[in-house]
Amino acid sequence: MTKTNLEFKTEVKQLLDLMIHSLYSHKEIFLRELISNASDAIDRARYEALTNSVIMENESGWQIKITADKEAGTLTVSDNGIGLTKDEMIEALGTIAHSGTKAFLSALQSREIKDNPELIGQFGVGFYSSFMVSDKVAVISRKAGNDRRNGVKWESTADGTFTVEDVEKETKGTDVILQLKPDETKYLEEWEIREIVRKYSDYIEHPVVMEIEREKESELKKGEKVKIREEETLNSGKAIWLKDKSAITEDEYNEFYKHISHDFSDPAKVVHFRAEGTSEFTALLYIPSRMPFDIYFKDYKFGPALYVKRVQIMDHCEQLLPLYLRFVKGVIDSSDLPLNVSREILQKNRQVEIINKNITKKVLDTLSDMKKNEYDKYLSFYKEFNRILKEGIHYDLERKETIAELLLFQTMQKAADTYTTLHEYIDNMKEGQEEIFYILGTSRDEVMKSPYLEAFKDKGYDVLIMLDEVDDFVMSGLQEYKGKKIKSVIKGDIKLDKSGETEKEAKKKFSVLIELIKNQLKDEVKDVRLSGRLKDTACCLVADEGGMDPQVEKLLKQMGQKIPENKRILEINPSHPIFEAMNKIFERDRKSIVLEEYIKLLYDQALLLEGSKPKDPAAFAGAVTRLMVKDAERAGT
Ligand code: ADP
Repeated sequence: MTKTNLEFKTEVKQLLDLMIHSLYSHKEIFLRELISNASDAIDRARYEALTNSVIMENESGWQIKITADKEAGTLTVSDNGIGLTKDEMIEALGTIAHSGTKAFLSALQSREIKDNPELIGQFGVGFYSSFMVSDKVAVISRKAGNDRRNGVKWESTADGTFTVEDVEKETKGTDVILQLKPDETKYLEEWEIREIVRKYSDYIEHPVVMEIEREKESELKKGEKVKIREEETLNSGKAIWLKDKSAITEDEYNEFYKHISHDFSDPAKVVHFRAEGTSEFTALLYIPSRMPFDIYFKDYKFGPALYVKRVQIMDHCEQLLPLYLRFVKGVIDSSDLPLNVSREILQKNRQVEIINKNITKKVLDTLSDMKKNEYDKYLSFYKEFNRILKEGIHYDLERKETIAELLLFQTMQKAADTYTTLHEYIDNMKEGQEEIFYILGTSRDEVMKSPYLEAFKDKGYDVLIMLDEVDDFVMSGLQEYKGKKIKSVIKGDIKLDKSGETEKEAKKKFSVLIELIKNQLKDEVKDVRLSGRLKDTACCLVADEGGMDPQVEKLLKQMGQKIPENKRILEINPSHPIFEAMNKIFERDRKSIVLEEYIKLLYDQALLLEGSKPKDPAAFAGAVTRLMVKDAERAGT
């Protein structure tokens, strides 16, 4: 039989190196990882056996067996699950496939773990963690259904290489044999193994058994003791989600969360319930407290694991939750779905739709409860996840308003660290205010000085402050809340003065000047009109009602997107003395060069105020200094 020597992929080498040389705590989790792999292998075999009974090989009970051999110094974890072929083995145990392990590797490199070794216990570090306690690891496996001669043995001392060779294996499944390091032999002790299994793997559905040596009263000779070996099951085996809520401790909930999510922080909230009626299922869902590190990766898998009557069907079922709740982790165990359900069937299955509806509502209700009753917790959840949650406003028309109720805003009138809901905003609206106003900006300080807020400050109307570019899409997607229109202070025509009397008068007074400005700036702006939003500033640029915020436009341009030329509207403040003065110049000399220069300057200022640059900064600077010189000369005379 030939033995082949192969090299680990670089990332595995790195991982092994860090694992062996940098980590000294929580090494016991290697056993949790091996048991978890064994359990997954059994799940897969059980699922496949539904349609292909050959792979059962006349065996009935699924089992994970731990064997400690003190003499040889080996600890073996065996399963009778699906097993691996040679090719699968080379792929699975020569590269890093598992996202949790990848997360671990990057955390290791960022020193997060090295500085906080207590965190390691909370990572899903996978098979390679065996090398924290072993000098040598062997994996002997045979794929279920294959001939006994088609077994394969993998072996490595973590020196950068591993070997594979063909072997015979009587039983299907996998044995992982650890040659423990001399100072790690405590993992051969019964009590130690018992303790680890109880702590980390109690909920594993399949029995985890170990042969235990016991002294027993001899049946032949009274009063004498004999040693016997008995197989004992170490775990309770009850799927945690099927247990009664009152029987589960917070620690157990958290441990299970870490197991399925590969997160190392406790979740923010556990949602555990049983649904009866049109659809029968149990849901154990978690709202994380930290953003999953890979949530923005292309291959991020979302959706709870789907079980049908305790049989795992898939580890992530995306049909069960909308995309904007993709941070939610957990398990759904349905009693109604057929066991052989495929991804295609899931796509238009009515039961799946009902479950989706049901758990989406439950998650949103839970968030709403958190907001009401555990505000601090909600706030930190919100800061972490609001960007994702808000997508729901765009994509889930039916629940748009429910999601809107979960939003938190800074506002102009409230201190920076206090947040307001839309509901509270409406409750606090001033008499006469009919709409909800918001402003988009890059920092609160900058926004607070914005000329676009002048009239709002004057009127005492509060304005929501939004500091994330996606917010513009969110707010324009929302359009209205509880019958109140939502408007950007920088878009559309804003009329805070509803009577319109002063406006009529100003219109008459400035109509000719406005025409002149319009004419001069006809290539730059779409329109020139009187402003309802300015108080002290002379003029500003605004977008159309449905137009794009300049911040967003800038961002999209930076991202290389082609944006259609979108001209703005120049608004002038009729109560500003400059227009009175310009009117006078105009009456004297319709073709005044000064007027032309003033119009240019006003437009450039308006560009600066909206966060853009004048088209010709040098010309702008030149014009300003010319004015300064004139002013200085006048002051000198
Ligand atoms: P994962 O989180 O994917 O299990 P591991 O590093 O622990 O990551 O294991 C890598 C892969 O090795 C698994 O995805 C699986 O394909 C395979 N594997 C590990 N242990 C077993 C086992 N007991 N039976 C079958 N396959 C296994």
